Amino acid sequence: MSRLSEIARCPAAHKRSVGPHQFRRIGDYVLAVDDAGRFVFLSPSEYRDFLKGLKPDSPLREKLGHAGLLRDAFDFDDAAQCSAERGLLAWPGTSVHVIRLEKYGSRDVMDLGTARKVVDFVFTVPGPCVNLRLCAELTKQTWGLVWFIVQYARRKGEWHKRPVAFTWMGQSAPSVEQAEFLAAHKVDLRTEMWLSGKPKKGLVPMGVRRATALVQAPANQAAAWVDCLAEAGVESVLLATPPSDTGAFLEFYAAAIDRMLQLQGRLEIREERALGLLSGRRWLLPGHDLLSELCYAPDGGIYSSELALVMAGDGKDLLKLGQVGSTRYEDLAKSPAVRAVLAASLSENQPMCSQCAYRAFCAIPPSESLAAQGTLWGRHPSSERCSLHMAILDILFARLARTESAEALRAWMS
Ligand code: SF4
Repeated sequence: MSRLSEIARCPAAHKRSVGPHQFRRIGDYVLAVDDAGRFVFLSPSEYRDFLKGLKPDSPLREKLGHAGLLRDAFDFDDAAQCSAERGLLAWPGTSVHVIRLEKYGSRDVMDLGTARKVVDFVFTVPGPCVNLRLCAELTKQTWGLVWFIVQYARRKGEWHKRPVAFTWMGQSAPSVEQAEFLAAHKVDLRTEMWLSGKPKKGLVPMGVRRATALVQAPANQAAAWVDCLAEAGVESVLLATPPSDTGAFLEFYAAAIDRMLQLQGRLEIREERALGLLSGRRWLLPGHDLLSELCYAPDGGIYSSELALVMAGDGKDLLKLGQVGSTRYEDLAKSPAVRAVLAASLSENQPMCSQCAYRAFCAIPPSESLAAQGTLWGRHPSSERCSLHMAILDILFARLARTESAEALRAWMS
């Protein structure tokens, strides 16, 4: 059971009938979750009955049995399958390769030889699809590189029979010619923007389908902002917050999720963190070191994530994993940094998360723990990211607890 939320007059768990689980209060309900992430909502009185030990004819037995919460009716095969599907053994490989085309705050751009080595390295990383994210602030100076990488990776994809997806993240909008090239090669455009005040028409550049949005808008503008993004063609957005503003952000976030669910069927727009957290698959969490992201510096350095590369600029290159051209993908497994990142990524390895109901859904990127708390392992319950994940999961599970929104949310996630 969980120390992270409480239930009044909670009886001791019946030893032979109650299976291992964590619980959390979500509004009028008690969420009970097993280690594999199977869950059920109960009323507080049902939960107390469950803890006391259910009678053999109790109508609750079926519901709790499906969620793996009854010790005397535990389905080991189902629990094993569930854990295998969500555990590291099912990890398909790093899904996003971020290529930084020029140095932060400088005009030094990657050279063509390095770009070729980066693409060669990326194709040695296992996974069903190669997903390249090309990032640059200097569109004009890096355009030749974009052109080369897209053509070369496309050709390599044909040789290797692997689908290749591209995202271009530039600071300024592409010219007409550039936009035509990107469209012809099915390169998705991603942009980073601030949502502040009321929505403004024309904020989203033409053709942008993905966005990272830093929120400073009041919560009562959330629906209008979601409409604005969806009408401009944005299908996938990562809502983020400046560190000091979490309370206001969460109100905005909850209202934005409600609006996205309402729009379903008319305009499709999804929030990336919500999808990653609810999937229970850590490699779907945006920006997670190695599991969902690897990052390549203009000089060919390989980093565990884009944040790890940013930190290297401040002299902390603990998460530099190698160098394209001399490091093989197989070498990464031997690197102490990779082992430390993987061990720290799994919340089941985190003693301080062991009593959290969201342990099966949550993971904090080690680079973020390093940046915020000075430790790769992190001190999760006292970190900003832990508070954010817990609050976002509260918002999402509150919607899963209500029949009307649960259906919409499940459809939205599929
Ligand atoms: S980091 Fe995640 S799993 Fe750990 S306590 Fe916080 S919300 Fe729970």
